[in-house]
Amino acid sequence: MASTKKDIRALTKEQLRNFFVKEGEKAFRGNQVYEWLWSKSAHTFEDMTNLSKETRQMLEKNFVINHIQVDTMQRSSDGTVKNAVRLHDGLIVESVLIPTGTRTTACVSSQVGCSLDCKFCATARLKRMRNLNPDEIYDQVVAIDKESRLYFNRPLSNIVFMGMGEPLMNYNNVIKAIDKITSKEGLGMSPKRIVVSTSGVPKMIKRMADDAVKFNLAVSLHSAIDEVRTEIMPFNETFPLKELKEALEYWYEKTKSKITYEYVVWDGINDSQKDIDALVQFCKYVPCKVNIIEYNPIDDGQFQQAKNKVIDNYIHHLEKNRIVVNVRRSRGKDIDAACGQLANKS
Ligand code: SAH
Repeated sequence: MASTKKDIRALTKEQLRNFFVKEGEKAFRGNQVYEWLWSKSAHTFEDMTNLSKETRQMLEKNFVINHIQVDTMQRSSDGTVKNAVRLHDGLIVESVLIPTGTRTTACVSSQVGCSLDCKFCATARLKRMRNLNPDEIYDQVVAIDKESRLYFNRPLSNIVFMGMGEPLMNYNNVIKAIDKITSKEGLGMSPKRIVVSTSGVPKMIKRMADDAVKFNLAVSLHSAIDEVRTEIMPFNETFPLKELKEALEYWYEKTKSKITYEYVVWDGINDSQKDIDALVQFCKYVPCKVNIIEYNPIDDGQFQQAKNKVIDNYIHHLEKNRIVVNVRRSRGKDIDAACGQLANKS
């Protein structure tokens, strides 16, 4: 059951300092508690061993620490780890640890379910239940950092917002979480090691540019032809490619940061020469690279991965136009941890 006491982690450091002053204690106790909550990831007030018993009890009386719990953890044959994470109100989201040669990447969720309706994505079928709080996003990262140290003897190196949800539909909380992740009082990670992936919300892309964010941007494009894109990502009707293009131009003008387009090629959907030509044209608007992602089937329906020769043709035309293209193999498919498969089947 959710508690009616206030979540202490919703307080800023200043608010914590003020709270202690109001309680007749020294303001620096606020700094100590802040450090316990964030850089030391304390789950209970009991853990805060440099506070007196009375102070800890006083905190207990006033607040809760709504920490996430890793409910179940699954390990794939390729080393990928999937966490089903229980939130304080009982809802569950998933996050994934993806190890490669030298890196460990955390793929984190930003919403319970998703606000958007991409036809090929398992999360979209859940609908959006609620946004995650900044600390619920942060906790997923901390949990994966711990697992990375435990299983791979190294800290987490990268974070991608490619789990459940549309991060730009929960913009304020995502930004607060990233602030914490990158601040010295949090994990001190470089924003250059963070990628926020969006299905392309033009207004919010401009907002990020205005906010001069320092992390990287990826856009799930999947088609550069409006009719095709609307078919597979119906919200494209509301945010058509022309608006997306304008927002991306604005982004690049302000940030000078290259964009990554994520692109899945499906049989009979976006596998014609016309689709390739449209992508090549779209790639000319702003400096970018293309990641061709393998499709992870979510049912036996409409969507099938295109033939290799079609993918080769995409690569050929992109490279001929000097556009950098990578093909990304799926990770963690055997435990439903790959892109678009996060739907908390249990
Ligand atoms: N809402 C954000 C982030 C979550 S999805 C976004 O759309 O970018 C992360 C990535 O997985 C996106 O590029 C998305 O298009 C892709 N994806 C979704 N379902 C997929 C599937 N079944 N197979 C492969 N990639 C998928």
